[in-house]
Amino acid sequence: MTAKKYEGRAVGIDLGTTYSCIAVWLDQHNRAEIIHNEQGNRTTPSFVAFTDDQRLIGDAAKNQAATNPENTVFDAKRLIGRKFSDSNIQNDKMLWPFKVIAGFNDKPMISVKYKGQEKVLCAEEISSMILTRMRQAAESFLELPVKNAVITVPAYFNDSQRKATMDAGAIAGLNVMRIINEPTAAAIAYGLDERTKCVGERNIFIFDLGGGTFDVSLLTINDKVFHVKATGGNTHLGGEDFDHRMVNYCAQEFKKKKRVDITRNSKALRRLRTACERAKRTLSFAVVTTIEVDSLFEGIDFFCSITRAKFEEINMDLFSQCLKTVESCLIDAKMDKSAIHDVVLVGGSSRIPKVQQLLQEFFAGMDLCKIINPDEAVAYGAAVQAALLSEGFKNVPNLVLQDVAPLSLGIEIKGDIMDVVISRNTNIPVKKTKDYFTVSDYQTSVSIIVYEGERARSTYNNQLGSFVLSGLPRALRGHPIEVCFSIDENGILIVSANEKSTGSQNEITITNEKARLTSIEIREMITEAESYRVADEQFLKKAKELNALDYCVYKMKNALEKKDMKLMLSSQENEKINSAISKATHLLDINQQSEISVLENHRNELESLLRLVIGKSV
Ligand code: AMP
Repeated sequence: MTAKKYEGRAVGIDLGTTYSCIAVWLDQHNRAEIIHNEQGNRTTPSFVAFTDDQRLIGDAAKNQAATNPENTVFDAKRLIGRKFSDSNIQNDKMLWPFKVIAGFNDKPMISVKYKGQEKVLCAEEISSMILTRMRQAAESFLELPVKNAVITVPAYFNDSQRKATMDAGAIAGLNVMRIINEPTAAAIAYGLDERTKCVGERNIFIFDLGGGTFDVSLLTINDKVFHVKATGGNTHLGGEDFDHRMVNYCAQEFKKKKRVDITRNSKALRRLRTACERAKRTLSFAVVTTIEVDSLFEGIDFFCSITRAKFEEINMDLFSQCLKTVESCLIDAKMDKSAIHDVVLVGGSSRIPKVQQLLQEFFAGMDLCKIINPDEAVAYGAAVQAALLSEGFKNVPNLVLQDVAPLSLGIEIKGDIMDVVISRNTNIPVKKTKDYFTVSDYQTSVSIIVYEGERARSTYNNQLGSFVLSGLPRALRGHPIEVCFSIDENGILIVSANEKSTGSQNEITITNEKARLTSIEIREMITEAESYRVADEQFLKKAKELNALDYCVYKMKNALEKKDMKLMLSSQENEKINSAISKATHLLDINQQSEISVLENHRNELESLLRLVIGKSV
């Protein structure tokens, strides 16, 4: 399937939890360029603030957060596409200074005061404001309108979160050409797919330590196909935790030296945090720095010097935690660290020398990929992908990003059978249509239950959702229903069913948060399916035989209902047929308990009787 090419300028956007970054491919430079914001910064805080007279976005919003905490919104990425009742939201809610309330359909809504009035917004709106600001920066950089974008999301984002991110793009006036996984974008930025030409399959470990989140992913690239083998991480570990440790350290120093406690003064803490964050960045290239805040509390200045060694000491347990996560991701992927070809650093906090040192030691001294700025790699990769999807670029690396369906997808048919519509590892996007048939006469509706998994029995697979197609016409069993599975470029699955004569139609977009499986669960299901393969084949064979026998009984009953049919048969024949039907009914009742050979023999007997009946009726 050739990808559709878009006209006009296209950008790549890394819409981050704490910072966002935008890049554009420039053919004349043979590379993607990171676009500065109006403050001249290459990344923009994902912050939006509301005041009595204006709305602030990015640096301006973050800078006034200490004085206006209730109306300064951040972390929209933690809210997007989730339900208010989601336990993650319930836990995070305690930590946010802004108010989050339940909206229609359990959607989390952010309540702020703007121009003296209460304003309620959803996460998509907040994200769209950040995206709009990024788009504007790109437009002034390019001196051209920007319409198209590729936006990145974490590999573990489900359909609902991906869709909501697309919606945020649409609200920002962007045509979101594609949503791609952050680790995939980072791998593209390093051109790692290119190296598969020499080695075949390449295993890439992406270590993404950002401001508020830590994500690790193990990707395998083979012939341009990116597989996310395993993901892991901690949704609450990142640069902000290191800042927090420094703030605590400084507050203790302040107490020791000046005998005042600032731990209850949020404004002083916020100012100290800003100074600590700056010092932390400096410690990534200097071995010692100073932290100075004039008039920190009650007119007293704060001054202290901090060494890199001290910074490492107060954060060592957090750094070690990162390494444990790396280890468990490899265990999940059942891969030894020696099988990793590249380790890629992503996220601003991966610049911390100690983190790099520990990681390098873990991977037996392997050189880490860090030539691209770690907080820009994802946007860079997204910009390459955006250029590939657009018309008119000659020098963009020629790669075709190919994603696949990680598990088979299908629906339940009679007898608890999982009938596969899209099989595992099918390239996406994909659209497949299959005809199904009603199972009873004059059936008025049909339930479509969607599953993913490799087991023959649908109940052993993962149910993704269900819907009912009603309004079927009065018809005998076997009336066709067309079912269509469509997975788009962003991995979003839509299942529709339609009855052609009446035009009845219904569909479902799989958005249930808990529905889709993680990469670990996917692998477990595949392994489990392997171990049950023989038993599953037996089950399937028997289930199909049961269905065939059931259909045979149905045809026989129908044939006997023809006018005077029973009179045309001898009493011996009638008796034989009746006993064959009751035996079949018994076999169907006891379902899977009969031997396949018994079912088969009986169906053959019934079929020969059916031929006799049909022969008499003509
Ligand atoms: P990201 O979310 O990837 O943009 O990462 C932002 C985080 O990276 C923030 O917590 C920053 O303080 C941190 N960061 C950025 N540059 C550095 C640096 N040179 N050393 C340490 N941390 C940094």
